Amino acid sequence: MKKKISIIVSCYNEAKALPLFYKEIDKVTTKMSEVEFEFMFVDDGSSDNTLSLLKEYASKDKRVRFLSFSRNFGKEAAMYAGLCNVTGDYITLMDADLQDPPALLPKMYKLIKEGYDSVGTRRVTRKGEPPIRSFFARCFYKLINKMSKTEMVDGARDYRLMTRQVVDSIISLKEYNRYSKGLFSFVGYKTYWLEYENVKRVAGETKWSFWKLFIYAIDGIVAFTTTPLIISAIIGLLMCLVAFFAILFIILKTIIYGDPTSGWPSLVCIILLISGIQMLSLGVIGEYIAKLYLEVKNRPIYIIKETEKDL
Ligand code: UDP
Ligand code: MG
Repeated sequence: MKKKISIIVSCYNEAKALPLFYKEIDKVTTKMSEVEFEFMFVDDGSSDNTLSLLKEYASKDKRVRFLSFSRNFGKEAAMYAGLCNVTGDYITLMDADLQDPPALLPKMYKLIKEGYDSVGTRRVTRKGEPPIRSFFARCFYKLINKMSKTEMVDGARDYRLMTRQVVDSIISLKEYNRYSKGLFSFVGYKTYWLEYENVKRVAGETKWSFWKLFIYAIDGIVAFTTTPLIISAIIGLLMCLVAFFAILFIILKTIIYGDPTSGWPSLVCIILLISGIQMLSLGVIGEYIAKLYLEVKNRPIYIIKETEKDL
């Protein structure tokens, strides 16, 4: 029997890119006649024509399936929904904008057949990306890899081909705050990294503003390391030590020279500094508690409104 590859594509307002994507994926997969395919499009609450395009594809192409969310739940939720609902022996995640070149698929499949559990892709260049975004991305990877035991590969995309076993392991991680790059790394398995040059989005525009990426980066840190809490505690301890020696110094100075009241500007600075650090630490703790709160509420990660079965 032929093996089946499921391709999961998360789409949020991708009506411009979808026709180009569909054409390309059709071309690539038709050439791979040794396997069967299932295309699982996840419409992440798009407000444009995305869903009607997906319905059109599903009605004329048996390989096409889709899930449509009741609202926008974010790419992480879309990927998770896809992973939970596909039936393939091998599963891959792709963006709809052709930034994850489908042309790499035959090579990825070959590597999986050679015995890898997972074939990931990573961009070796960030060409075509605003320099400031690349700079912050680099800083983020340096920072998180210093703090977290789970390795995050710089430039790694969500585009990867995995065996059913790897996908089942990922699905078994049911956390609400999902940070897939970390989850893939957390589950382990033998991974091959395929490198390629960055490709520009084929049509439409990016859904990730700088701010959204920044919040996503914080989510990644909070989800995979508690080091910021330790850093807060260490800073607190250091401040206590400094204060202790400062007190000693002032007591001795007053005994020797007697100068009880001068020095209020420096006091103001110290109070500002310390209260700033306190607020920062509270913020850090708050961030963890907020995540805990969301986790405990146990809300569904996504809500499906319709699928191809409703057609
Ligand atoms: N996406 C999604 N939900 C969102 C935002 C994005 O499903 O809330 C999808 C989007 O349609 C695309 C993929 O995630 O297929 C990557 O998004 P995008 O290309 O905008 O990100 P970039 O490549 O610029 O980082
Ligand atoms: Mg993109």
